[in-house]
Amino acid sequence: MHAAGLVARQIGILFGAEAARPREVIIQDWATDPFTATEADQANGNAHPDYCPIALPAPWGERITLADAEMAPEFGGYLEGALAAAEGAVIA
Ligand SMILES: Cc1cc2nc3c(=O)[nH]c(=O)nc-3n(C[C@H](O)[C@H](O)[C@H](O)COP(=O)(O)OP(=O)(O)OC[C@H]3O[C@@H](n4cnc5c(N)ncnc54)[C@H](O)[C@@H]3O)c2cc1C
Repeated sequence: MHAAGLVARQIGILFGAEAARPREVIIQDWATDPFTATEADQANGNAHPDYCPIALPAPWGERITLADAEMAPEFGGYLEGALAAAEGAVIA
């Protein structure tokens, strides 16, 4: 089935048969939008980047510890990384 047909069918499942007959379907691929994605985005989509803990500058670094999947010492971007970052924050 064509992409527009798949979209209309999905909308119909969610919102009823009336909604499944849109006057127009516009499909926007944000990966090709020059204001959203760059060439680097096209080339590097198979893995999370290597994240690492970020130390905040003074005076915040002594008071606030950032801990999330994007601050993980390893497995950045994954649940395991979020847990590792949380453990590191608790120990710090
Ligand atoms: C669709 C999808 C599939 C995924 N599949 C996997 C997978 O299979 N395996 C895997 O390991 N990882 C997977 N991940 C990644 C994983 O979910 C994340 O890496 C992990 O949840 C990040 O944990 P976190 O604690 O850093 O952030 P989050 O889980 O995003 O937690 C942040 C929390 O902060 C809350 N919050 C945000 N702003 C505020 C605010 N101002 N005040 C108070 N609270 C706020 C949010 O509501 C949220 O509860 C997936 C992610 C997505 C989106």
